[in-house]
Amino acid sequence: MTISCRCRKCGSRRSLRLKPESYIRVPKCGVCGEANWRIDFYRMKREKGRLSPTCYCSGYHFPHREGSLFCQSRPDAEEIWNATRGARYQSITSTSEGVLA
Ligand SMILES: [Zn+2]
Ligand SMILES: [Zn+2]
Repeated sequence: MTISCRCRKCGSRRSLRLKPESYIRVPKCGVCGEANWRIDFYRMKREKGRLSPTCYCSGYHFPHREGSLFCQSRPDAEEIWNATRGARYQSITSTSEGVLA
């Protein structure tokens, strides 16, 4: 997977292999030497079809784009799970128990 980035200082484009915040030593801009990138979401979206990897983790029961909301390859996956699906699951089970009783 490549992350399309733009230099915040001079605006030049570069594809990074990781998100800028994932680097210990952030690659420098070849034009101005700054290591200050922003992710170019517009370009990422446009190139999605051929660049986004498909992920098969158990966050979904179907193949999905890596980094999708419940995808476990997200760094905050557990937090999201607890905050959303876990709560929803509890409300579903308590509702069905109510119906059965
Ligand atoms: Zn630059
Ligand atoms: Zn996944």
